[in-house]
Amino acid sequence: MDKIITAIISLILSANTYTFVYTQGRREGIEQTTIITEDIVQKTPEEKIFPTKTVIRNSTPTSSSWWSYPSDIKKVSRSGDDFLVLVNKEYQLPSTYVPTDLVSICSNVTNLRCVNNTNFLIRSILISDLQEMVNAATQDGIDLSVRSAYRSYSTQQTTYNYWLSVNGGNVGATDQISARPGHSQHQLGTAIDFSSTEINDGLGGTFANTQASKWLANNAWKYGFVISYPADYESVTGYSYESWHYRYIGKANTQDMINSGMILELYLRSKN
Ligand SMILES: [Zn+2]
Repeated sequence: MDKIITAIISLILSANTYTFVYTQGRREGIEQTTIITEDIVQKTPEEKIFPTKTVIRNSTPTSSSWWSYPSDIKKVSRSGDDFLVLVNKEYQLPSTYVPTDLVSICSNVTNLRCVNNTNFLIRSILISDLQEMVNAATQDGIDLSVRSAYRSYSTQQTTYNYWLSVNGGNVGATDQISARPGHSQHQLGTAIDFSSTEINDGLGGTFANTQASKWLANNAWKYGFVISYPADYESVTGYSYESWHYRYIGKANTQDMINSGMILELYLRSKN
């Protein structure tokens, strides 16, 4: 009889233990999910477009020169017209590459302001998706403006030299924020630097705190635009976080990229 009672008691105890462990496990699981979600929302709003995917991350810059260029510069492997061409610090566009379908952004897209009425150019192939995105933003009460779009090879030369002089000739500091000629996505005619009235159409880090920035981070992908240089990926992209810089790769490619769980830089490397 004692043995039977002991057996029943141990059965009850083990069942309780199981329940406890199970509950504990679930609770820990839930807490962990919450922490991860908060982390993504607060630290890197751009990553909200990949909520269920783990992106390959090189979070601890192993070298002190993530911004530097490799010694062996290669020519791009796809045509500049190709939405998936990889242009970065390693792959350079030819100085002669100019998109053949450049048009004025603000003459072709309504409710999008071009700062200082500058005649920014962009490839006509993305105009309808851009208009669709601007319409959706406007409907959500978001103001968007354009600070920069297509940049020719020679403009990149001027821009790089400008930042080089601002940085007192410091090449390393300049390479963190400005692309050398032929290395800028802006030469593709598919990259746009956005701003908003929220920061008086300024360009730079303050854009990250705007509603416009949050809106783009959450919605731009639906229209084929993706952020090129997300936060915390300096060692992967070679650039500081640019909340304002978006590149168009088309709706289908964007969806494919999101499914892959990769940021743009890694997605394009996988295609080039
Ligand atoms: Zn840019």
